[in-house]
Amino acid sequence: MEKETLDRVQQLLATPQKVIIVGHKNPDGDAIGSCLGLSFFLSEMGHDCKVVMPNDFPEFLKWMPGNEAIHIFDKDTEQCEKLIEETDLIFTLDFNSLDRVGNLQPSLEASTAKFVMIDHHQAPADYATAMYSDVQMSSTAEMVYHFIASLQKLDLLSEPIATNLYTGIMTDTGSFRFPATSPTTHRVIAHLMEVGANGAAIHQNIYDTNTPDRLKLLGVALKNLTILTEYNTAYITMSQQELDDHNFKKGDTEGFVNYALSVLGIKFAVIFIENRQDAIVKISFRSKGAFSVNEFARSHYNGGGHTNAAGGRSDKSLEDTVTEFISILPLYKNALNAHA
Ligand code: 5GP
Ligand code: MN
Repeated sequence: MEKETLDRVQQLLATPQKVIIVGHKNPDGDAIGSCLGLSFFLSEMGHDCKVVMPNDFPEFLKWMPGNEAIHIFDKDTEQCEKLIEETDLIFTLDFNSLDRVGNLQPSLEASTAKFVMIDHHQAPADYATAMYSDVQMSSTAEMVYHFIASLQKLDLLSEPIATNLYTGIMTDTGSFRFPATSPTTHRVIAHLMEVGANGAAIHQNIYDTNTPDRLKLLGVALKNLTILTEYNTAYITMSQQELDDHNFKKGDTEGFVNYALSVLGIKFAVIFIENRQDAIVKISFRSKGAFSVNEFARSHYNGGGHTNAAGGRSDKSLEDTVTEFISILPLYKNALNAHA
């Protein structure tokens, strides 16, 4: 964290503040873990801290310490609007632009509070008084640890902070295997375990919670897997009907795209998930090596993210979305066949 950013944060936190911490729409383990971890820390420092999420989050995250106190904007809109109106300071975590917060966007844009950003996504927007952005970082949860370290407050780490940050780092690194996992990431994890994070229990809580329906849905996803050898690309489709047939719940398709990326030789993996209610197809992109799915998602799917993991959406039907995707690939043939 740069000295100037640190100075600004220290000024903003010099006296007890009313603080709201916000994560992105469809919050994942890193959004929830980083927000809850920071919330426990700032509360420990004497601030009045609340976490607000744009919409609900998956069941498999609903054991995380403090999760029951999260305010969900889409469920308790008026209360959340009031909280935001009355706050001095807003921390935005794990997203890079105010268009990533769904229905919360107008309230944040209308707020006169000061903003602090902590985030690791590419191309951060310029709305924060203090901006701690580092696209090399494994996760926002790891950044919250470094944030606490910069404030020289690591002595305040507690079991709930450690468990939340561990979970955020673990989920965003695919259990410490994605390339952004650094030696420092492992040192941070070691320290979090020393102050109370139980790695084995956290893995079980996140990964060993499959329902039979979800595993059967994975079976459908794997049946739908298509390989485009010419482009070192693999994709999966999930129709609304297939989701309905398996009693789909938020989070059930999390991680499916990684099976496409695990095929030998595949550099680019995509999952297209139909969402009839929102009349969109939600798309997740993953890559290995230099091929930037962030740029791909930005150029064609109104999305973004990281070099190797990004998301976006299409307003076309599922079928047309896939046809269009296949028609775009020749533009990237060289990039997808480069040795990197
Ligand atoms: P996922 O595919 O798991 O939804 O998202 C992968 C990464 O891309 C995450 O870091 C997520 O925050 C980001 N991401 C997902 N969807 C979008 C989107 O529509 N716009 C932007 N800018 N980023 C996205
Ligand atoms: Mn993240």
